[in-house]
Amino acid sequence: MGKLRFAAALTPQGWVENVTVETAADGTIAALATSGESGRYDGIALAGMPNLHSHAFQRGMAGLAERRGTAEDSFWTWREVMYAFLHRLTPEDVEAIAAEAYVEMLETGFTALGEFHYLHHAPAGAAYADPAEMAGRVVAAARTAGIGLTLLPVFYAHGGFAGAPLGPAQLRFGSDPEGYAALLQAARPHLADLPEARLGIAPHSLRAVTPETLAEVLPLAAGGPVHIHAAEQEKEVADCLAALGARPVEWLLNNAPVGPGWCLVHATHMTEAETKALARSGAVAGLCPVTEANLGDGLFPAPDFLGAGGAFGIGSDSNVLIDAAEELRLLEYGQRLRHRRRNVLGTPDRSTGRHLYERACLGGAAALGRPVGALAPGRRADILVLDEEHAALAGKKGDALLDSFLFAGGRKAVRDVYVGGDRLVEAGRHRRRDEVAARFGATMKRLLA
Ligand SMILES: [Zn+2]
Repeated sequence: MGKLRFAAALTPQGWVENVTVETAADGTIAALATSGESGRYDGIALAGMPNLHSHAFQRGMAGLAERRGTAEDSFWTWREVMYAFLHRLTPEDVEAIAAEAYVEMLETGFTALGEFHYLHHAPAGAAYADPAEMAGRVVAAARTAGIGLTLLPVFYAHGGFAGAPLGPAQLRFGSDPEGYAALLQAARPHLADLPEARLGIAPHSLRAVTPETLAEVLPLAAGGPVHIHAAEQEKEVADCLAALGARPVEWLLNNAPVGPGWCLVHATHMTEAETKALARSGAVAGLCPVTEANLGDGLFPAPDFLGAGGAFGIGSDSNVLIDAAEELRLLEYGQRLRHRRRNVLGTPDRSTGRHLYERACLGGAAALGRPVGALAPGRRADILVLDEEHAALAGKKGDALLDSFLFAGGRKAVRDVYVGGDRLVEAGRHRRRDEVAARFGATMKRLLA
């Protein structure tokens, strides 16, 4: 048992002051009380933010695709740069890069993540001796960083719609349904001693599976989460219409058991009918505003989706920039720019920052299948502590604290971060930052030499 004392905390019942959080040995919150107990009460406690979508290795290519080529630059030209980078990566490289990404996530307030893991095989496509070698490296990185992990091994069978063969650069991702089942089986022992690990499945996208192979792999979820990229790009929507006679989100809603436990990542390009139907389905929309801006994907129809009660969470996706506050800020700012209004995603009863933060926490927790997302008894003691001494927070109370964190202070206002009651980040620094950064630095210098 441990006792943590905070000057203020945001709970499902609202803001409370001078709060004591009792943590149990298993890392959950045992009790939460305001009391006159003596002791120092400081810091502003929020639930840790789940990061529902990450490709950790892409952290290593952040900043390497920001020069316009001769052709019109797009998601598809970025993908070529990404393929060229990943071709060189060994299992050791992936572990070093993922550990760096996860330490950075924790330092900005992400306490759990869904790793949408698709780099499975050796460069020519042969399986490693352990088919889950690469998944094991991701798990090892999560263990080093201490972040909560929902591992989502990717099923990637085709290079495009209508069962097109994999391209040479995609051989490292590829599996047939049988090989994928074996990969999932091989991943389980890697997760055995990781606290609160979860395993789900991730059919990559409708362009990487066929309706038949999708139906074959869905039962492998065995109650775990199902994540899939959908409607990130307009070309993908057009190709899907041509191949399957429906738009990606429309097709999934009509042909797959989309509902609670599912996460449709991006869902950027939807009609109004798709937007409302996805909101009603109970599936989570996995929004990645920084990556979607970086890749020029487009803007998610957030006002309609949130207005219809849709569940959403946020993901750092390409990890070009890792910053929980920045994801939510950009989600709102994109809508302000589009609609030329302020507080587009706010509600009358709570501030925009609080509304977005609370919904992203709960949606992220649902997408990852984790008992997190709120400071309440029975949930994991995953806690982000803001520094009330930070200039952006000085003198603020209640919702203004959260708005000042998201819109004015950003990640520099994050003081401490706990996962399962264990303080991993103190005064803004992860306790293993030096060793993880040194290994990452050496890896990058070798890869880019
Ligand atoms: Zn992605």
